[in-house]
Amino acid sequence: MNQTKNKPRILTGDTPSGKLHIGHYVGTLENRVKLQDQYDTFILLANVHAYANDFSKAEKINQDVYDVYLDNLAVGIDPKKSTFYLESGIPETFELYTFFLTMVTHARAMRNPSVKEEINYKKLDPSLGFICYPILQAADILGFNANLVPVGEDQLPVIEQTREIATDFNKTYGETFIIPEAKVGRVARLVGTDGKLKMSKSGHNAILLSDDEATLKQKINSCYTDPNRIHADDPGKVEGNPIFIYHDAFNPNNEEVNDLKQRYLTGKVGDREVKDKLFVALNNFLMPIREKRKYYEDRPELAKEILIESTNKARKVVVETVERFRDKVGINKLLNA
Ligand code: ATP
Ligand code: MG
Repeated sequence: MNQTKNKPRILTGDTPSGKLHIGHYVGTLENRVKLQDQYDTFILLANVHAYANDFSKAEKINQDVYDVYLDNLAVGIDPKKSTFYLESGIPETFELYTFFLTMVTHARAMRNPSVKEEINYKKLDPSLGFICYPILQAADILGFNANLVPVGEDQLPVIEQTREIATDFNKTYGETFIIPEAKVGRVARLVGTDGKLKMSKSGHNAILLSDDEATLKQKINSCYTDPNRIHADDPGKVEGNPIFIYHDAFNPNNEEVNDLKQRYLTGKVGDREVKDKLFVALNNFLMPIREKRKYYEDRPELAKEILIESTNKARKVVVETVERFRDKVGINKLLNA
């Protein structure tokens, strides 16, 4: 299978269900930026996935698409190197999706740990579209014949299901799809500001890449720490403590972080100082991201033009795959001359 420019391909993306956060950064965005020179990279704005959460939110989803797009640009995904596209702009994906739906048993769909976990923490009465979202994601990925999919740890079972679908198809109809690999970022699953296992757009426990200084300060100040520590001279817990997890992930000054940890463990520093230093580190990290976001916010015509052009470019890749898929299956045999 020829990949354009002879580079291997990346397909990755986000559900437009809100603005992106620092968990997305360490889980997947950072890898997207790092790998965009080595890989022919496609960034999916998964608007159809968002409808599976709630079909009645069309207006909000369109706004969220725009935000997720700007957030990706803001962290340094270069539209000259990487190709952004809107999921619904490639209708051929849904032809693959419909076929893949026939390949997955009901029991297998219900067993996907990512789906079960999300239903639980989002307290969903899930639509069929939601239960089947990993199958749509398989169509997104296999439509590009992607080699690599940078994702956070919570998405690994979804990539596993994609691999299963590709393998089953290839076994039945001959080599058609590349079996993609997942690539997890340097923090597999960043904890939320409420101490919950996963920072999440829909969990109201996220520090956003677009938060201004005042919002950042307020979120850090109200961040969950060690609930058993009442006074600054009580010895505290560092392990599993969100403020130290964030220091480890975003404060480049290792000496400062180690000193804070030592003093925290022995009751020689208050939460205030740890949080103030975290604010400085995170604010420094977010400053250039906010700036780049503003550049595109101020140029909506440019952002739109890029998206239209790149969606058209991405569609050509999927059309090629879908034509190969049709030939392999012989699905339209009776219509062909
Ligand atoms: P939602 O709550 O709506 O599912 P989300 O915050 O989980 O939103 P997604 O759009 O589902 O965001 O995920 C986009 C990518 O970011 C996925 O690869 C996912 O694994 C990764 N990701 C999301 N949250 C985290 C996190 N807290 N730590 C590391 N990676 C994450
Ligand atoms: Mg998610």
